[in-house]
Order: sequence, then structure tokens, then C-alpha cells
Amino acid sequence: MRLHPLLTGTMAAPPTYLERSGTGWRAKLRDYGIRVPAEQWIRAPVPAFLVEHPSAGALMIDTGFHPAVAVDPPANLGRIGALAFKNIEMSAADAAPAQLRARGVEPGAVSHVLMTHMHIDHASAVSEFPNAKFVVSAPEWAAANGSRPQINGYYRRQFDHAVEFRLLDFGSDAVGSFAGFGRSLDLLGDGSVRAVFTPGHSAGHVSYLLRLRGREALIAGDAIYTIGTLRESALPARMHDEHNFKRSLREIQLYDRETPGALIVPGHDMEHWGTLEAAY
Ligand SMILES: [Zn+2]
Repeated sequence: MRLHPLLTGTMAAPPTYLERSGTGWRAKLRDYGIRVPAEQWIRAPVPAFLVEHPSAGALMIDTGFHPAVAVDPPANLGRIGALAFKNIEMSAADAAPAQLRARGVEPGAVSHVLMTHMHIDHASAVSEFPNAKFVVSAPEWAAANGSRPQINGYYRRQFDHAVEFRLLDFGSDAVGSFAGFGRSLDLLGDGSVRAVFTPGHSAGHVSYLLRLRGREALIAGDAIYTIGTLRESALPARMHDEHNFKRSLREIQLYDRETPGALIVPGHDMEHWGTLEAAY
């Protein structure tokens, strides 16, 4: 099984949005970039991942930015989303479909897209994988289709397409514990791809554990924006549920300690992104 990390674009984030500066209201304003000069904002990657499985074929983890975001962000992200995601740097060739074709994979051949969650920078390009089954946790699906979606980071038009969604039930009998994670599902039945439930960043966030040749990889998604969150427990400015976030973080930290050789990929860490290889 091969893993290809894909950088679909970058965005600007306030320096303390990914790792918050404090808990008071002054810190909150700073963390959301209020009166923080533009030159102090940092770049954050917007990733997606291609997984080539020997029998299941081409899989994706998240979709990254839709090609339209390169030219007209509000068209795909919505007006509120385009306000939140500032100074996007992206060319049409950065979108996942173009990157797949460059690797000899047709986007129409992708059988499954495993969603960490449905936030607008992850579900942006759902429409580009018309033949895939989309895998998402049941509580995440409910939140994305619940009240005030745009306030909660979702834009329904991105996933309002005739594609099939398969909802993961982390309360089912098939759920077991694995390598420090309390709730995991073996998606293909061969132990190669496991969904591990890591809620808190969003209502039903899921991380994915891959068994690569000689090494494991954890696509942590936004359960940890940065390696600083993993190693120093630096909390982000925004959490859907802080209690669940910390519980999920402890599970990822336990996995990190018990699996020293594993590759752990955080959701939006530019410095860490620069250390990744083209493929694993
Ligand atoms: Zn998110």
C-alpha cells in the first residue's frame, strides 16, 4: 500500500489560531487575528491524501480544495467560508484531481473517499470523485447537516451531490480498541486501513491509521493541527468540544508513545508538511 500526501493549497492563519495564546477574551481576539498585522499571519497547508491499496485500488483521505478555489474561493467555500480562509495560494494544478492524473490515477477510479470531517477545507472537492463512496462518521454527518452549518464550518453545497455516503457507527459491535485508540473500525477487513474515532475538533472527527510497508501512518486530520499539539498539548483556538478534543488528543499521544516509528501527519502544520516525502 502506498501513501501520497497531496498539498492542494495553502491559506493564511493568525499565528495563534493553530496553537492558542491563552484563554481570556484578549487572547481570543488575537487568536482570531483581530488587530494582528497581516505580515504576522502564517501559512497553513490544506492537504489531501491518495492511498493506493493492492486490492481496493485508489482511495482518498479528504478531498482538499476544489479546483475552483484557485480562481473564485466564494463560489466553492461560500461567502462566510471565503472570509474565514484568507489569502489562499493555489493553482488549478494543485487540486487533487490534477495531482491524481499526474500520478496516473483517474479521479473517477477512486473507490472510496475517507473523510476525517466535513469542514469546508476538507470537503471542498467532493464533486470531483463522482464514483466514490464517501465514508464519514454518523455524528459528523448529522452535524454537517444540522443547524447553522456555516457557523460550524460546513458548506452544504459542497456535498449536496449525488454521491453515496457510508456512515461509520462507532457504537456498533464491529468497533474495537486498537493501539491506544478506544474506538476503531477495520474498514477493509485486512487491517490495512483503520478508522479511529477522534471527536472534539468537530462533532464526529475521524483519523485514519494506515499499515504501510514497514511502517504505520496516522492521518490525524484536525484532531491535531500541529506537531506542537501532539508533543506539547498546545490547544487550538477553536474546538467544537474541548473535553472530547483532549480525550482524543490523549489517545493520539498514547499511540505516538507506543508506536515510535509511526508517521503522524497533523492537519495544518506547514513546517511538518515540509518534512514529508513525496510518497511512502
Ligand atoms: Zn476542521
